[in-house]
Amino acid sequence: VRRCEIIAVGSELLTPSRLDTNSLFITERLNEIGIDVRAKMVVGDDLADLSDAIRHALDRVDLLVMTGGLGPTDDDLTRQAVAAVTGLPLDEDPNIVAGIEQRFHARGLDMPAINRRQALVPRGGVVVENPRGTAPGIWLEHEGTVLVLLPGPPRELKPMLEALMRERLTPLTAGAGLYRRVLKVTGRTESHVEEAAQPVYSQWLLRPNPIGTTILAGPGQIELHLSVRMDSSREAARVLDEAVAELRVALGPYLFSSDGESMEQIVGRLLARQGLTIAVAESCTGGLIASRLTDVPGSSAYFQLGVVAYSNRAKTDLLGVPAEVIDSNGAVSEPVARAMAEGARQRGAADIGIGVTGIAGPSGGTESKPVGTVAIAVLGPGREVVRTSWFPGGREQVKLFASQAVLDTVRRLLLERVPSPDGLMD
Ligand code: ATP
Ligand code: MG
Repeated sequence: VRRCEIIAVGSELLTPSRLDTNSLFITERLNEIGIDVRAKMVVGDDLADLSDAIRHALDRVDLLVMTGGLGPTDDDLTRQAVAAVTGLPLDEDPNIVAGIEQRFHARGLDMPAINRRQALVPRGGVVVENPRGTAPGIWLEHEGTVLVLLPGPPRELKPMLEALMRERLTPLTAGAGLYRRVLKVTGRTESHVEEAAQPVYSQWLLRPNPIGTTILAGPGQIELHLSVRMDSSREAARVLDEAVAELRVALGPYLFSSDGESMEQIVGRLLARQGLTIAVAESCTGGLIASRLTDVPGSSAYFQLGVVAYSNRAKTDLLGVPAEVIDSNGAVSEPVARAMAEGARQRGAADIGIGVTGIAGPSGGTESKPVGTVAIAVLGPGREVVRTSWFPGGREQVKLFASQAVLDTVRRLLLERVPSPDGLMD
């Protein structure tokens, strides 16, 4: 494949309320097999606009992936537009009709007549099954170009693209693939990371198969994306493993993930492996830490309790933080964070207790405790960490930063107990 483009169809994607995320997912998967996406477009539900977009794309590409507009309603026009541009007639596929009818019958319903439209296939097209919805996808080879039509809902599109990757797309890409690794760093700024890593990766560019790097900064974490083009996935894995090892030395304990795993996944894996449980008492993070920990499948093995105690009263009633400790130190203070962690640990009967209290802003800051001040306590088996940090940005960012700092503190504490090669930091 020399040139691939994506068209995302849907008028809602042209408004601020809905973002085209499908093209990001498609691009990610295609990149993995060495197909670069050269351009993408978002087009509204309009037959003329859509036909125009398809016509122009077909002049340039040898692979065109489209998402959306395969539904049963009048505004779903992708099939018609493809038929209009290619001149191919639309045939009704009786198997698809039967499949859609069956989906409705399974729910005790009759199939509305408009759903028949979803059974229309441009002549020569191959049907791509949709296990999660009514609209099947279509794979169409036309005059040397491959057109792939996929439905808009991301949860339907994803498994369909996975199947196509295995069965049809990977075979299209003879030869070198593009292999990637995502590393994540926390507790350092983008310029610190760049300063430490640049001498390492500048060497990689001199090789016959250079490793490309991109640095991406987000609140609480910096990502380093490595990519290399190689003929064999084994060889690529070896080269990338070595590259990661060099960066580990350069970045030290700030590097927390070397294959795309999130902080909460890593903390979860360490907790599960060490057979430890955790309980969380949160004030300024409003439940974000508990939410992140429970985003991980299987977290019920270690997550015991989460309490959002915003008021002083709740800190005392629910967590047993002594009122005098709050009065004499202020709600945002290390003694209060510590007492919250202790309360969570006891009430959750957990091995590790977490307490977080801070000022997320925009008001409530003082000279000695400006907005962004957050006191953190992590009481673990054998050791405890209690400290005060300051984080920049608005409420949402302070919450993110604080949750990341807490989870990273837990990660480091767990690694001190039992060093493990893939939680990093030896
Ligand atoms: P359906 O049979 O559900 O109508 P469809 O192929 O017609 O499928 P759309 O109607 O265009 O798809 O979109 C269905 C849902 O998927 C909508 O909620 C839409 O916002 C979402 N969606 C569509 N395209 C995208 C996209 N590119 N990225 C993310 N979400 C999308
Ligand atoms: Mg639709």
